Amino acid sequence: MPDETQVTSARDPRAADGGSALELHPHAARRWTPKRVLVTPAALDEPHGQRIVARVEALGIEVERLRANRLVGLRGETERETYARAKSTLAVVVSPPSRRRLQPISPSADWRVDLAEGCPAHCQYCYLAGSLSGPPVTRVYADLDAILDNLTAYLGTGQVTSRSTRRSQEGTTFEASCYSDPLALDHLTGSWQRAVEHFGAWDAPVQLRWTTKFADVDRFVALPHAGRTRVRFSVNCLPVTQRWEGGTSTLEQRLAALRRLALAGYPVGLTIAPIMPIDGWREHYDHLLDLVETATADVPDLDLTAELITHRFTATSKEVLLGWYPRTTLEMDEAERAVKRGKFGATKHVYPKPVMDDLRQWFRRELEQRLPACRVLYWT
Ligand code: SF4
Repeated sequence: MPDETQVTSARDPRAADGGSALELHPHAARRWTPKRVLVTPAALDEPHGQRIVARVEALGIEVERLRANRLVGLRGETERETYARAKSTLAVVVSPPSRRRLQPISPSADWRVDLAEGCPAHCQYCYLAGSLSGPPVTRVYADLDAILDNLTAYLGTGQVTSRSTRRSQEGTTFEASCYSDPLALDHLTGSWQRAVEHFGAWDAPVQLRWTTKFADVDRFVALPHAGRTRVRFSVNCLPVTQRWEGGTSTLEQRLAALRRLALAGYPVGLTIAPIMPIDGWREHYDHLLDLVETATADVPDLDLTAELITHRFTATSKEVLLGWYPRTTLEMDEAERAVKRGKFGATKHVYPKPVMDDLRQWFRRELEQRLPACRVLYWT
């Protein structure tokens, strides 16, 4: 039986500096404790809202029962204070009715399904910056049962997986981490556990998918997932995870968690993002792939995918991120970037073509050679 508790890498570049090889300790997963938990009356009417409140109170966290369904009092005196206050607040609410009409989410999946919005971590390139309005409070949805029931109508629809011969066996895919990080929150809500069980019992060509920078998988290992949930771990080279991914689980913990789920029969994946050509990037990403190789080498029937996403920013996301992290060392210099226009005229700043080509060729070659069983789903 492969050892699921520890993975070490003899090729850790830090070893040359006198550092020891990395040890992965999956049971030391990081868990968020919000300072403030709010619940609206509408959320308390929902069975899952009641389950979340019971779960949070059982953890010894006080829950404020609001009189109205609007969230107020989230702003501080300064932008920093508003950020700090919002990031430490969990709100249990009912999802907006518009969320019942699912949006396509190419290239990741056919449809986006939201079980929450917001995240307590502090990544300095956060994908949510500029996408969500107002203070970055974490909202978790109490109407989970209706959200999951609504998915039935989408069976057999969607463009992403049906058009791709490489992905047609996935069935209709639902992405449940567009606006949040599931494993940052599930210990407080249980929502993604229920979603895994829902898909496990849904005997149809469907797949639930999510990606995470956390490692808190204890409660998922023994769930009846029936292979219909693919959990991807968002990973990066060590300098990126250590400099710019505050409040997340370490890279080593994430890979140990991936290993545990793979050993439990889950399809798993790597979301390598955001890829950045920092100084020495080949060596650093080489080390990342080395850790992945070690973590997956002896997993029986490994089903591993990779999604490769380079760093990009918009004028709006840059402004929001500089408000949240005014002293960030993250490069967001328009002069260093090429412009990419999106479907609705939105402008993104991406790496220039020669840099993109270099990165893409390197990842394609290295993944083919070192992780031949890994299916690359897309590069962007
Ligand atoms: S884990 Fe994801 S959603 Fe959370 S702060 Fe980091 S990038 Fe944003």
